[in-house]
Amino acid sequence: MKIMISYPPLAGEGTPTLGQNRQFQWFHNPSFIYPMVPASAATLMKEKGYDSIYNDSIAEGLTWEQYALELARTASLRSEDPYHAVGTALLRADHTVAALGYNGAPPGVEIDWTDRDKRRKFVIHAENNALRYVAPGEVALMASSMMPCWDCILLAATYRIPRLVYGEELDSTVYDIPLTKRLAADCGIVLEKI
Ligand SMILES: [Zn+2]
Repeated sequence: MKIMISYPPLAGEGTPTLGQNRQFQWFHNPSFIYPMVPASAATLMKEKGYDSIYNDSIAEGLTWEQYALELARTASLRSEDPYHAVGTALLRADHTVAALGYNGAPPGVEIDWTDRDKRRKFVIHAENNALRYVAPGEVALMASSMMPCWDCILLAATYRIPRLVYGEELDSTVYDIPLTKRLAADCGIVLEKI
């Protein structure tokens, strides 16, 4: 099983601190105590053979956008695509996670992943797989491990996504990147590589 234990980059009155004994409180001064219980859980799971990721956004100073991108990258771990494993995370305005998705086959369809060109026709993109769980207007931030393609930009526009961040650039041998970026701007989506 692939699992991520994460401490989101909360913002509020002071510095969010997760104590060694799991207690949460706002501190006046930044104080980074190693949270023993969740961190030990991540280590124990790794020792039991699970793919476990420990992500402390507070100690690492991650922004919400970087946090969302980390979630997207974690979702991509589930992709079977040997060429491009892509993940997408959708956050609401209050920073709660609305949905995650990764690129894969439609239900009941077997894809020959070894055929690089043939597989492309069957793969449902990560953005599409994540967006089908949300309502238009529900999402404030979309993060994809790779820049979304033309079709996924259009799809994001139909869900009224205002902001989209991504990690890697698209494969320029397959996609027209400048044109895709212009489409995002035309759709009113603020697209940024972080
Ligand atoms: Zn796409």
